[in-house]
Amino acid sequence: MTDKGGIKMKYTNAYPKYQFRRITDITVEDLQKMGAKAVAVDLDNTTVIDSSYKLPEETRKWIDTVRSAGIQVIIISNTIFTRAWYLGKKMGDIPFIAPAHKPHTKAIRKAAKMLGVELENLAMIGDQLFTDVISANKAGAISIRVEPMKKEKLFAGHFKKVRAREREYMKQYHNEKNKEKCTA
Ligand SMILES: [Mg+2]
Repeated sequence: MTDKGGIKMKYTNAYPKYQFRRITDITVEDLQKMGAKAVAVDLDNTTVIDSSYKLPEETRKWIDTVRSAGIQVIIISNTIFTRAWYLGKKMGDIPFIAPAHKPHTKAIRKAAKMLGVELENLAMIGDQLFTDVISANKAGAISIRVEPMKKEKLFAGHFKKVRAREREYMKQYHNEKNKEKCTA
């Protein structure tokens, strides 16, 4: 099935299991209820503003709180190695995998192994359906989607298309689900 924008419902794995506005809205209790013993965080527009090297104070505090509760944190980002390394240091010397090549699942599986948790106990938190959410769902991890922190300035044209596809996907997904409910 295709729509005006050419989206195919083949992206059956792009629907997030949980949704929040900001990463900082997710509480330790939420994570525990989901069964998360470790969280993998995306960088751009999830923990830091797109393309930034500046770590927001509220993100740093959130990471500290989560880690103090015994939940491990790792960065899984498609950014370059040095930027993930730098931000990982600022986040309290946390491990990272970058570039992760999401939507491929390799980084998610590697993270679970590195942290010694089962995939079903690893939550991947990110702002993009077709990279963060798909990779988590395909790998069997817990997918959590957050709203992008800010409109992307770099590759603005590319992201405008991505966000339009995401909106269309969510709309179609809900339409399909409603149809299923009606015929059930
Ligand atoms: Mg992102």
